[in-house]
Amino acid sequence: MKERLASIREKALAQIKESDSLEKLNDIKVAFLGKKGELTEVLKGMKDVSADERPMVGQMVNDTRQAIEAVFEIAKNEMAKKKREFQMKNEVIDVTLPAKKNNVGHRHPNAIALEEVQRIFIGMGYEVVEGPEVEYDYYNFEALNIPANHPAKDEQDTFYISENIVLRTQTSPVQVREMEKGKLPIRMIAPGRVFRADEVDATHSPSFHQVEGLVIDKNITFADLKGTLAEFAKELFGPETKVKFRPHHFPFTEPSAEMDVTCFKCGGKGCRMCKGEGWIEILGCGMVHPRVLEMSKIDPDEYTGFAFGVGLERIALLKYEIDDMRLLYENDVRFLRQF
Ligand SMILES: [Zn+2]
Repeated sequence: MKERLASIREKALAQIKESDSLEKLNDIKVAFLGKKGELTEVLKGMKDVSADERPMVGQMVNDTRQAIEAVFEIAKNEMAKKKREFQMKNEVIDVTLPAKKNNVGHRHPNAIALEEVQRIFIGMGYEVVEGPEVEYDYYNFEALNIPANHPAKDEQDTFYISENIVLRTQTSPVQVREMEKGKLPIRMIAPGRVFRADEVDATHSPSFHQVEGLVIDKNITFADLKGTLAEFAKELFGPETKVKFRPHHFPFTEPSAEMDVTCFKCGGKGCRMCKGEGWIEILGCGMVHPRVLEMSKIDPDEYTGFAFGVGLERIALLKYEIDDMRLLYENDVRFLRQF
């Protein structure tokens, strides 16, 4: 018995010494000290040992177990320490290395222009509202005084989802949606994406952006329209900017006008930017048509208002002197970084 224990002890210590991983060490522990381990087998043989010798043999088994466990613990700690050192060496961080630059892209000229427009109108007390891009024909045309057979509908050929649902051709339907809410007065701008069945070229795209504006209150006159939009132009293009209004036609405003600003490049003398004219067309506007007010349940004898629509791309192209609209949609970071 004594010899058997000595041999188990020797074998265990030798195997522990040779093992090179924590997993192997655990296997060895199980093989010797586990429920079916060699030492446990010896304990099972205790019943054959005489009563006199039993305490002595029991003591010997315990000593052997403790000896193996002690060596095992030392080996295990040693192994864990080595593993940690190995990890530390491998995962070392060199704080003197230059940091990797995080590439975050760049704000789009459209976004910069929109923020500028919003800043100006919010400063004048306007609210920013949004409407759906997929819109009822009623809101996009009918309620804006463009009945089915109106020639203006041809100019705004769009994409039809169904007979009554279109991709909106303008942000103007948001006017109707706001008026229908019945909360007066209204002082709002509505930026958003619009769609036309146009081919892509330097000045056209099937999808672009507009910013709509609408003011409805008592005693709103054309003077309010002129004052507001002149102030907007000065804020956007500089304090020297002058504006002029040319008569125009839109079905949902009466009277209607287009607004030009003095060329911010040459100050009105004429240059390449303004094609020698000194003026640049910037937006369409007018007094809200009484019929449009009526259709949205607003009494045109009590309330009046003005509306305007400006192309966001047009602002971006002018302000940042970009000569091809397609550049705005390619999203080449080398291009975007310039603004
Ligand atoms: Zn000019």
